[in-house]
Amino acid sequence: MVMSGFKIEWEIIPLTLKEVFTISRSSRSEVSNVFLSITKDGITGYGEAGPNTRYNETPEIVVSDFESIPYGFFDDISSPDEVESMIGNLNPEPVQSAKMAIEMAWLDWWAKSQGQPLWKLLGEKTSITPVTSFTIGIDSPEKMQAKIRDAEQYPVYKIKLGTERDRETIEAIREVTDKPLRVDANEGWATLEQAQKEIEFLDTQNVELIEQPMPASEFKLMKQLKEWSPLPLAADESFIGDEDLRQIAQAFHVINIKLMKMGSIMKARRVLNQAHEKGLRVMVGCMIESSLANAAGALVALNAEYADLDGHLLISNDPFGGLTVDEKLKIILSDNPGFGVIN
Ligand code: MG
Repeated sequence: MVMSGFKIEWEIIPLTLKEVFTISRSSRSEVSNVFLSITKDGITGYGEAGPNTRYNETPEIVVSDFESIPYGFFDDISSPDEVESMIGNLNPEPVQSAKMAIEMAWLDWWAKSQGQPLWKLLGEKTSITPVTSFTIGIDSPEKMQAKIRDAEQYPVYKIKLGTERDRETIEAIREVTDKPLRVDANEGWATLEQAQKEIEFLDTQNVELIEQPMPASEFKLMKQLKEWSPLPLAADESFIGDEDLRQIAQAFHVINIKLMKMGSIMKARRVLNQAHEKGLRVMVGCMIESSLANAAGALVALNAEYADLDGHLLISNDPFGGLTVDEKLKIILSDNPGFGVIN
């Protein structure tokens, strides 16, 4: 039997939002993510789980998943090609964000053990992502105007909609900026008529795309909406990770890949290529996450059309640093080993 050389530790860290963050279904001022560290030979790899109640995950469920990692597990992984399937075999009822943290920690450790940034080891030629959007949560029109003024350095905003006041909100935003907007309704428009009415208006407002206009359960209506829509539609809640991409392409133009839904960086990279083959464009998004998980997301976003990796910009107590964002809001992955962020 192989002696386990890895020390495994985890910690639940409440991430404090700079401002209360409201979307169509919830409002939060703090989000608890679970941070995993694995140490061997004086090298520590870090992983992060951002459990989301929309997908029935909590920090406690993530921790119990970490507790069940068998003795010696990490010693048996030898390359990134096998890490996804080995973690996939751990739990027959996978906790996606926990899987993500486990894989992230191993990949970070492995790249650090080679003394190389992971993006280079995985064969990427560039370390620069597309422009990332900056998210403005739901608030009163006056407060949303103030948030835009505070964020005037950003080139594109993601506006959370899906309430009774959507038009009023956009009109208020257009009083303070003419920059392009991405709109995320978070399943907030219940009927085809409502979605069409909102999109017709948004089409006159320099909007780049609409994310998840209708509930994920309304797939048939989403197909009708795509037939009609003058604006690109992006699947977020409708695309977790295992859906048939040909079907998704019938109802959407874009998929939003999030690592915490997908449970694997290696899988996310593969799905991105498969989506491109089906004619879908790809956005890489995030939950409320630190610079660590967003560095991992940025690695996938190197090959995407859109980035929405601002989670770490929304929190005031980021446990990690060193993730560079340039003046155009493109994330630049560092040349430091692993994911290149600093604990
Ligand atoms: Mg979304």
